[in-house]
Amino acid sequence: KQQLVDVVIIGAGAAGLMCAAEAAGKGLSVVLLDHAKQAGKKILISGGGRCNFTNYYVEPAAYLSANPHFCKSALSRYTQWDFIALVDKHQIPYHEKTLGQLFCDDSAKDIVNMLLAECQQAGAEIRLRTQVEQVSYSDERYQLATSTGLLSAKKLVIATGGLSMPKLGATAFGFDIARQFGLKVLPTRAGLVPFTLQPNDKACFEAISGVSAPSVIESLSGTSFEENLLFTHRGLSGPAVLQISSYWQEGEEVRINLLPEISDDQWLLNERQKNGERTIKTVLSDVLAKRVAEQWLEHQQIDNKPLKQFDDKQLQALAQRLASWPIKPSGTEGYRTAEVTLGGVDTDELSSKTMESKKQPGLYFIGEVVDVTGWLGGYNFQWAWSSGWACAQAL
Ligand code: FAD
Repeated sequence: KQQLVDVVIIGAGAAGLMCAAEAAGKGLSVVLLDHAKQAGKKILISGGGRCNFTNYYVEPAAYLSANPHFCKSALSRYTQWDFIALVDKHQIPYHEKTLGQLFCDDSAKDIVNMLLAECQQAGAEIRLRTQVEQVSYSDERYQLATSTGLLSAKKLVIATGGLSMPKLGATAFGFDIARQFGLKVLPTRAGLVPFTLQPNDKACFEAISGVSAPSVIESLSGTSFEENLLFTHRGLSGPAVLQISSYWQEGEEVRINLLPEISDDQWLLNERQKNGERTIKTVLSDVLAKRVAEQWLEHQQIDNKPLKQFDDKQLQALAQRLASWPIKPSGTEGYRTAEVTLGGVDTDELSSKTMESKKQPGLYFIGEVVDVTGWLGGYNFQWAWSSGWACAQAL
């Protein structure tokens, strides 16, 4: 027996939950399906369990997409302030951590419970542990064969997210459905992900795994971020590296300014003038963590000599290298640890106002499955909320 509803949404993550609550709130009959046994699993583990649910400074420039304009409509119609108002309505305590990033004071569970309460109040039906076996389209309706029964709906919303963290239940389902209905899917790759290093570099910096340092990191294309860098036993991580990884292509190097506070490229010459007997390691240890100074000098194969034994050119070159240290990652840790997936359903195929496919009526894509990827810092959830909301208005 087939269940007839207005809307089926596949994927009870951030975007799907928002869309279901909004659509049901407008009086539509909505079924929200997920193969997981729990809704919003990524929300629960996000932000170290406190969910960085949005950012005070959301703007289109914080998103990567083949069409940088695509995200503008949804982001401007459902803003960070709208989501903050919802969080306030549910009396969830939160704080700004840094750079406009808003986190729950207590637990990411607060956000999931809020969305579940909104869905329940609006009357959306959430069906977990449900595998979607087949999707077909005939007589202007979508027919779904699932492990928990047959469904038929005029509108089908795909909110199955990207490929990152397969352990949490990420699948290529959304991309497969897009292709099934003739929509173009742009190549995907891991974003917001740590770098792995070439064996020699790795061996050198392994010694300081766990140490972090302020930095400015720049990609070949000229994008840069000023945030902390973290040395790990596999390579490099920390917010600076996660951010730049989304702008990095295989084989490229990145440049790291290890001394963002120092703008004078003559500073080592000045130090030599003040006291030429001090060794380079001692001087660098004034401005860098001692162990970072040591390992970096070793990596650069620079002997620990008194400053007076370096000539002007050497000291200038050294200062310049500290301000723009080129390093070529061997790769990234991949989808296993990536926070997001770059690429996905081509935005040219969708209406930016409604998220509906231009060629397949009644088929919508929202959230991370779409080729819109935000920076670290709450931007990805805001895209999920905004695109889910925009879609619901059009259903
Ligand atoms: P998801 O939230 O991933 O939801 C997709 C849903 O679809 C899941 O419930 C999944 O079970 C379901 N699904 C998948 N395949 C199928 C299938 N075949 N059948 C049925 N159901 C299926 N972003 C931020 O903005 N702030 C943060 O603090 C933050 N922290 C993060 C931490 C980690 C460790 C990770 C991995 C990501 C983090 N992100 C963060 C990114 C953010 O979680 C995602 O961008 C966001 O969840 C995308 O929302 P979505 O609804 O599109 O997809």
